[in-house]
Amino acid sequence: MSSAAGEDSSSSRKGKEKEDAGARREEAVEVAEGEVDLGDLYGAAAGWVEARTSCPHLGTMPPAGAIDLERVPPPDSPCSRCHHPAENWLCLICKDVLCSRFINKHMLCHYQETGHCLALSFSDLSVWCFACDSYLDVQAILELRPVYEVAHLLKFGERPPFRSLEVLDLSTGENRSSSSGA
Ligand SMILES: [Zn+2]
Ligand SMILES: [Zn+2]
Ligand SMILES: [Zn+2]
Repeated sequence: MSSAAGEDSSSSRKGKEKEDAGARREEAVEVAEGEVDLGDLYGAAAGWVEARTSCPHLGTMPPAGAIDLERVPPPDSPCSRCHHPAENWLCLICKDVLCSRFINKHMLCHYQETGHCLALSFSDLSVWCFACDSYLDVQAILELRPVYEVAHLLKFGERPPFRSLEVLDLSTGENRSSSSGA
């Protein structure tokens, strides 16, 4: 017994999709000129999300003199408590080097114990205020520039790219107190 089954192979052809060529429109991106925020530019480069341009705790820092700035340790200094080797924070009040909240929280402990709320990150040189619970903009806050410049100099061997104020002169080791040009 044999049964023959006729197979009908039907092939359905899909319609060709229409290609819309030449329909691309170049949209002109409007750039707001005249509103270049250098703080935003450098902030974005440093990975900052938001940085305050003011902080009521800056007065807790010692005056940015040469003697104080000479106490800034190398950026690869270990945590003074647990000796974690890298990416620590520098207390801007007493210049102690302590590890981050992602290691052993010694900088955070230091703030809780001493009230020293201003710290500079040796990993990206950003400045954090524990009391404000925010990053601070070293571009906008002049009080932060001297120690930031020193840290940048120690870390990268050169000064930061922004306009350097004449607040620090490491070659002479003296503060410039002359008021010339005024
Ligand atoms: Zn530590
Ligand atoms: Zn401190
Ligand atoms: Zn603050």
